[in-house]
Amino acid sequence: MTNVKRYLEGLQKKVHDTYGHQEEFLQAVDEFLHTVAPFMEANPQYSEKNILEMLIIPERLIEFRIPWMTDNGEWCVNTGYRVQYNSALGPFKGGLRFHPTVNQSIIKFLGFEQIFKNALTSLPIGGGKGGSDFDPKGKSEGEIMRFCQSFMQELQKYIGADIDIPAGDIGVGGREIGYLFGEFKRLNGYQAGVLTGKPLAYWGSLARTEATGFGLVYFVQHLLADAQDSFTDKKVLVSGSGNVAIYAIQKAQAFGAQVFGCSDSSGYVIDEDGIDVDLLKEIKEIRRERIRDYAEKRPNATFYEKGSIWNHSLDYDIALPCATQNEIYEKEANQLVANGVKIVAEGANMPTTLAAVTVLKKAGIVYCPGKAANAGGVAVSALEMAQNSQRVPWTFKQVDDELNSIMKNIYENCRDTALKYAEPMDLMAGANIAGFERVAIAMISQGLV
Ligand code: GLU
Repeated sequence: MTNVKRYLEGLQKKVHDTYGHQEEFLQAVDEFLHTVAPFMEANPQYSEKNILEMLIIPERLIEFRIPWMTDNGEWCVNTGYRVQYNSALGPFKGGLRFHPTVNQSIIKFLGFEQIFKNALTSLPIGGGKGGSDFDPKGKSEGEIMRFCQSFMQELQKYIGADIDIPAGDIGVGGREIGYLFGEFKRLNGYQAGVLTGKPLAYWGSLARTEATGFGLVYFVQHLLADAQDSFTDKKVLVSGSGNVAIYAIQKAQAFGAQVFGCSDSSGYVIDEDGIDVDLLKEIKEIRRERIRDYAEKRPNATFYEKGSIWNHSLDYDIALPCATQNEIYEKEANQLVANGVKIVAEGANMPTTLAAVTVLKKAGIVYCPGKAANAGGVAVSALEMAQNSQRVPWTFKQVDDELNSIMKNIYENCRDTALKYAEPMDLMAGANIAGFERVAIAMISQGLV
C-alpha cells in the first residue's frame, strides 16, 4: 500500500470515528475522499502537508440561540448555525437554510461542498454555510420578520462584506434576506455587500434569482454541445418547485426542451402538455401554495401524492434534481436507468447518494454533481458583491453572459480534469479534484494559518 493510500484510509477512519453521528457530513466527505485518490497519488505534497484533514475541519463553527415570539405571544427558541469553513480563496461565502432538518451535520456537509463549488467558479470566495432548524412553513409575515431579526442579532457579530457574506438557500429568499439586511443595517450601518440575493431595490443583482437554475441548464447545454447535441426536443423531469427548479424549467424550455414534471414536499405533478412555468411561478412565488393546486388548474396534469418523482416510469432524457439532499438512492437510480435517462444534473446539493451515482455510472449515464452544476447561484452572488463594491449595477445581459461563460469554464475544467486523473466524463472526480487543487495551492502558499 502506498503512503498516500495509507494516509487516505487513516483519515477516513479518523473522520468516521470522530463524526460518526453526522451522517450527511460523512457522506459528503466520503464522496470527496473516494474521488481524489489518483490526484493525491500524483501530488504527494498534499498528503505530506495533511491538507485534506485541514480542509475537513472548519476554521470556525458558530452555534447560537434564536429566541422569538409567535403572533399569539408564545415563547419559542431555535438553533442557529454558521460554519466558516475555509477562507483560503476569499471571505467565507455561502447561503443560509431555514428548514426543520437543519443540524450541525447538514450545515457542515453544505459548507464542505461549498468550498469546492466556490473554488470552481474561479471567483475570490471562500466557503461557508449557515441556517436554522426554524420551519418557515405556515408562519405569518410578522413571525418570519421577528425570527430573521433575532437570527441576525447574533449572526451580525461574525459577518461583514469582506469577512463572511451569507445569502439564501432553502427557506431563505428575497423576503428573508430583506429582513436580515434591515436588522444588520440597524446594528452596524449600511454595508451593501454583507449579504447577497438582496432585492433589486437596494443593490441586489439582476439575474441572481434566475442564476442557479439558468446556470444548471447552461452547464448541461455545454455538455450536450460537446457531443454536437442540444436541448431541442429533449424530455426533462425536474424535482422541486422553488427558485432553482422554476428557472431551470424556464431556461430548458427556452432552449427547446419539453419539461413534464416537478414536485414539492407534498407530492409531484406530471403535466403531459409541459409545465406552464408562469402558472408555477404564480402558485409558488406569489401565492406560496402547494403543487397540488397547479395540477387542479391544468387539464392534462396529474398530481401524485405518494412516492418520488424519481420513481415515476416515463421515457425521458434528462433528470434535474432541484429539491434537496438525498432524493435519489439506488432504487430511484435504477428507475432512471429503466426510463432511458442519459444525463442527471444536480440543481440541489447532494441529491444523489454515492451508491446511486455508482448505478448511474455503470449504466453510462452522465452525472453532473451539484458542486459544479449548481455553482451559478453563488457565482452570481460573487458578481453581486463585485457590483456592490463598484457601486455600479450591471445589466441583466451582462450578468447572464458572465454566468454562461462561468458555467462553460466549470464544465470544461471538470471534463478536462476527469480526463487527466480519472475516467473520461467522470465529472464528480473532475469537480472534486479541480476544486481541491485550487484551494490546496492557496492553503499551502499561505502557510500554517
Ligand atoms: N445557497 C446557494 C448554494 O448552495 C447559494 C449561495 C450564495 O449565493 O452564497 O450555492
